[in-house]
Amino acid sequence: MVTRVTLVSLALAAVTGSAPAQDAAPFPPPKTEPAIVTPGRTNADPPSDAIVLFNGRDLAQWRGGNGGAARWNVRDDYVEVAAGTGDISTVQSFGDVQLHIEWSTPAVVKGEGQERGNSGVFLMGQYEVQVLDSYNNKTYYHGQAGAVYKQYAPLVNASRGPGEWQSYDIVFHAPKFDEQGKVIDRARVTVLHNGVLIQNNVEIYGITYNDRPAVYIAHPAALPLRLQDHGNPVRYRNIWIRRL
Ligand code: MG
Repeated sequence: MVTRVTLVSLALAAVTGSAPAQDAAPFPPPKTEPAIVTPGRTNADPPSDAIVLFNGRDLAQWRGGNGGAARWNVRDDYVEVAAGTGDISTVQSFGDVQLHIEWSTPAVVKGEGQERGNSGVFLMGQYEVQVLDSYNNKTYYHGQAGAVYKQYAPLVNASRGPGEWQSYDIVFHAPKFDEQGKVIDRARVTVLHNGVLIQNNVEIYGITYNDRPAVYIAHPAALPLRLQDHGNPVRYRNIWIRRL
């Protein structure tokens, strides 16, 4: 039933042209229909619009640090860091992405802290999501598995044991720079570790250094993804990525 008060306020709104703030700008309906994507058999399998970066067979989508061949060891369905051969980077460049990557640290535990099963997923080759054996392994909190290295500790430690396969599902927003090279929109990252949210859309401070604060250095809108050779035989498998 319409009350007097409602009628008065409606009349007032009509006179002044005002309306409740939340109705001020009618939300325009989207004009484009969402594209059809066929999901993978499981949520770990690549959907139809993903670029498969490693399917267990070869490193055709990767290269070494000097632009030469990637020299990590491909066995069975995984690739293992060959210590001393350097990081590997994708042939293709990416900006905003959804990334799925599976990894395992050595089953035979060796070393402590940062020297146990260390590797890393460098988004745009710049911003590291740490890979580490963080199962019963103490280190600084923003250096454990799933940390945005030296910036954000993971919200929780969702690590599986050494030798077990683990996954990261990462949503990354690339930073934007103005013409002077100043950052105007920082990178942001969300990470699920073994399906558990551990980074919730955090704003990255820039490139991490050991001896000075993180800083942004302007770079192209798309760059290769890089995996770290930290001298430990960490394994990766089932790597796929979607451009956003
Ligand atoms: Mg690392």
